[in-house]
Amino acid sequence: MVLYAKQSHAQATSAESRIDRTTIITPHIIPRAEHTLSRAQVSEYALKVLYRLKEAGYEGYLVGGCVRDLLLGREPKDFDVATNASPDQVAHLFRNCRLIGRRFRLAHVHFGRDIIEVATFRGAHAENEGEAHSENGRILRDNVYGTTLEDDAWRRDFTVNALYYNIRDFSVVDCMSGMDDLRAGLLRLVGEPEQRYREDAVRMLRAVRFAAKLGFRIHPESEVPMTRLGHLLSEIPSARLFEEVLKLFMGGYAVQTFELLRHYRLFGHLFPDTEASLTRQRAHFPLTLLTHALGNTDERIAQGKPVTPAFLFAALLWEPMRQLAEKKQAEGMSEIDAMQLAAETVVMRQVTRIALPKRFSVPMREIWAMQYRLPQRAGKRALRLLAHPRFRAAYDFLLLRAAAGEEVQELADWWTHFQETDGSGQQTLLGTLVPSPAKKRRRRRAPRGRSAGQAAPE
Ligand code: ATP
Ligand code: MG
Repeated sequence: MVLYAKQSHAQATSAESRIDRTTIITPHIIPRAEHTLSRAQVSEYALKVLYRLKEAGYEGYLVGGCVRDLLLGREPKDFDVATNASPDQVAHLFRNCRLIGRRFRLAHVHFGRDIIEVATFRGAHAENEGEAHSENGRILRDNVYGTTLEDDAWRRDFTVNALYYNIRDFSVVDCMSGMDDLRAGLLRLVGEPEQRYREDAVRMLRAVRFAAKLGFRIHPESEVPMTRLGHLLSEIPSARLFEEVLKLFMGGYAVQTFELLRHYRLFGHLFPDTEASLTRQRAHFPLTLLTHALGNTDERIAQGKPVTPAFLFAALLWEPMRQLAEKKQAEGMSEIDAMQLAAETVVMRQVTRIALPKRFSVPMREIWAMQYRLPQRAGKRALRLLAHPRFRAAYDFLLLRAAAGEEVQELADWWTHFQETDGSGQQTLLGTLVPSPAKKRRRRRAPRGRSAGQAAPE
């Protein structure tokens, strides 16, 4: 073994063509003095796990996004550990450990609310084990343990995600020229790109997500197959896609991510009805509405404010819903029935691709329904709407539509004033509304017991 004793550089440089699995890899060891990753930046829990593994005689490395982000001077989202210890051996070392996953077992070591994920090195299936892949090349089983770090590095998605920080000597182990790519700002798939996308189409979404977040370019060889292979996303379980979509749009770089998804023709495989509405539309509103919504999401995240998937999905699916509702209304349906039917239809079609849990689809539909109620403000309706638990989100959504150029600017301004003013100001604003016949009837019945000041103007 003695990985760290080898100091040779039999590495492919970033200028050389891609590595394939027949290439013999000699890891490149970058000693502590030659890289910027310092222990002071590593979570104390991750360090505890690494030291315990080391004391027990196992190898232990930080790997993946945390090494990449720390080398870039960014704060990692989470810390992942790779080891040659089996999951059972890991479980023996830590009392606060749970084994998860059926096919490939991972150890989760818990420290209060923090979790350090410890994965045993993975290895490749033998060449003749064809059944590990589906007809299209999708990985069906990824459950073979590897014995070495080099085996494990082959299973990683991008070279910059295949850098290992060794707790024994604080060096960084680089088998795939990840360091060169990191310096060059390049996302390059490990191995043969098309095969790796076929194994797991989510890697295309990950390429886009990291490109947007890190400001990296996707290497030309990793980029070319993407525009052709988007259809493979239909093989991915809808629940996994939901998780990925949240990472794509709620990671703080939603605007660039959305543009890249469209550029690589992936967006249409995630949101087919939305893509159709974007290409079909005469006007530019749908695109403007989406870019505004995603821009707001990014801003809120930058300010540490909460964002909800319900609002995000309301924006993503608004245009297909609105267009269908308009069509149904033109066919003679009432506005509210048309909207309900359109919402139902659009959600039903969308969830065949991407799961949308009820706890998000219900408030999303409320935000939509409120768009049809917000124009009806007369009498006590305005105050009732204001007290509605979904009012704030619905009002924000109305502002978004106004900013995108839908004809609701006056309505949005009215609601802005209504919220800012006091009781008598609100009465004045209500007085500016053209009374509907229903409202007149109600007013005639209302005066009893009311003081003159509260009476609605006739
Ligand atoms: P971040 O946590 O910032 O989103 P990350 O790179 O750490 O980025 P994770 O999803 O936490 O992403 O995965 C950790 C590591 O596991 C990755 O860096 C990569 O090495 C490996 N990995 C994750 N998903 C895949 C995949 N679909 N195919 C191959 N390797 C993967
Ligand atoms: Mg991570």
